[in-house]
Amino acid sequence: MGAYFSEIFLGLWSLLIGLGITFKEFFKPVVTVPYPFKTIKMSDRYRGHIELVEDESGEPKCIACMMCQRACPSGCISITTKTEKYEVEVDGEMKTKKRKILIGWDLNFTTCSLCGQCVESCNKDAINFSKEYNLASFNKEDFHFDLLNRLKERNS
Ligand code: SF4
Ligand code: SF4
Repeated sequence: MGAYFSEIFLGLWSLLIGLGITFKEFFKPVVTVPYPFKTIKMSDRYRGHIELVEDESGEPKCIACMMCQRACPSGCISITTKTEKYEVEVDGEMKTKKRKILIGWDLNFTTCSLCGQCVESCNKDAINFSKEYNLASFNKEDFHFDLLNRLKERNS
């Protein structure tokens, strides 16, 4: 009979201890957010997918040197360029020169390991990790990003 009452007492005692902890935590600042209605700011070190960085005029900083494409161990970067001719005056004479124009910067995020080799290899600071973490889809194609287009959309 004594053991019976002792168990009831212990049960009630542990319940009170639990309620005491709940009561104490009730007045502490909230550290969680009601996702997806609210989101938190990601830390500077967070690595989302790669994105193009723009210059002051809103144009991509990328000069299409292809260093990042060569550095990527997973082959997920695909850069497309075209060559354009232009006239320039040299010593009073008009000369025709060529320049490379960036027309496509595609990322296959399905194979990207977020290793950062591309970001490190870029001498122009033209690419960086985004803070995107809300990616979900049943369709692989949704993770093939046209980064040039995304940059234009960001600025429109
Ligand atoms: S390394 Fe930088 S500048 Fe060169 S193609 Fe890649 S993003 Fe563009
Ligand atoms: S983070 Fe790594 S795997 Fe992803 S695109 Fe850059 S180099 Fe390739």
